[in-house]
Amino acid sequence: MRRVVLIQPKRDGRIFGKAPGSPYTLMRLASLVPEEVPVEIWDENVMELPMDTLGEGDLVGVTSMTVTIERAEKIAARAMAQKAGVVVGGVHATLMPEHVETFAHSTMIGEGYFTWQQLIQDYASEGIKGMKPVYRDEEWADLHGIATITDRVIKMVDEKNNYWTPYLEITRGCPRNCSFCTAIRVSGRRMRLRPVDEVVDEIQRRGIKRFFLTDDNFGLNFTTDPDYCVELFEALRKLDLVGWTCQSEMSIAKYPELLELSREAHLDKHFIGFESVNPSNRRELGGKSQGLAPATSDAIRAIRNSGVGVVGLFVMGFDEDTPATFQAMWDFIRQSELDSVSTTILTPFPGTPFRELVQSEGRLLDMPWRYYDTAHLTFVPKNMTVEEMRAAYDWLCRKTYSPSQIARRGLRSVGRYPLMQAGKKLFGSFSTDYGYRRTYAYRKAF
Ligand code: SF4
Repeated sequence: MRRVVLIQPKRDGRIFGKAPGSPYTLMRLASLVPEEVPVEIWDENVMELPMDTLGEGDLVGVTSMTVTIERAEKIAARAMAQKAGVVVGGVHATLMPEHVETFAHSTMIGEGYFTWQQLIQDYASEGIKGMKPVYRDEEWADLHGIATITDRVIKMVDEKNNYWTPYLEITRGCPRNCSFCTAIRVSGRRMRLRPVDEVVDEIQRRGIKRFFLTDDNFGLNFTTDPDYCVELFEALRKLDLVGWTCQSEMSIAKYPELLELSREAHLDKHFIGFESVNPSNRRELGGKSQGLAPATSDAIRAIRNSGVGVVGLFVMGFDEDTPATFQAMWDFIRQSELDSVSTTILTPFPGTPFRELVQSEGRLLDMPWRYYDTAHLTFVPKNMTVEEMRAAYDWLCRKTYSPSQIARRGLRSVGRYPLMQAGKKLFGSFSTDYGYRRTYAYRKAF
């Protein structure tokens, strides 16, 4: 075997010279490749893929989400034409393996911690004919000591120069059961925790000063494992960090002491899935939110009072939503104290109960996978026509991401910091909203 090449298909490309986030999953898989086997990571967001260098003896692993699966298919076809062995894994392969099986030598289902090294061995001993059609992790790996990022991978990726925000994982999984969520179908419903000393070691060896947690619902740990949170925050407080952000839920507002500790540990912002301000949608929200605007405002205020910022994540297009829900959403955003806002369109991703429902009712629109970006409508809504919902969503995006609204929220966000720090925090205070505006601009909403 000549080498292992791990490829991330293009999503956003570079923005002001760097890609938004590092290829974290590939960094961990590359770290599991035995030292004696050369390994490379090709992230199409930051480089032209040198496909013509591929050949016999190369094992190519392509990771893909649903939105990039068409590009992944093209990359796989080209690599196979060059006689490389090709395995495709990631979220889409896990949720819809029957699709990936049509265009790759092997499909990797699940996290790959149990099967990735097996595949490398199979390929090393027999080449393409040794590759099984499917490699499936049958259980969720304990995160203790798993896929520690090696120094050779850290050097190879050069996060400092290539990426705005390094990714990091501290916990994985979520016991909630939102009807539209892919994360729990990929990461499981049991919350798994990495040992704190391993997290600290990784941050120090990577030399990262800011990071975004890939954890599905980090904030739920405030409720389920407060002792772990205390241990983690006390360790992170001692590090020289600029700030970090995570995905959360509004229940963290009930824990002012933990919020205070988290702020001291340099936690800068929670991205909170409030999801809806329409209480009729509560059944879809897995118990994390009731869709009540006053309770949502109270939670935002309580969290911000602790000095930690809140990015509000909302989803439009639930079956109980009507055109009036878009007006209510805008009223809420306008009056809220949020630091930044994301309003996405409900998307029937493979493997979710929501997709099963719209499929069984014949409401799926015939759209290519590249439109599964949460900014395009891919199903027929229940209480609106497709045209009505598209128009309502464009209207909401134009309002939410107007330059004046972005400026207003950015200034509010920067106002959280003491004057001495405000300069350092300026970029982060505006960039989240700017990034969302850019996402929706793909739809020509502006
Ligand atoms: S709370 Fe978040 S991670 Fe958990 S099931 Fe709901 S959407 Fe998924």
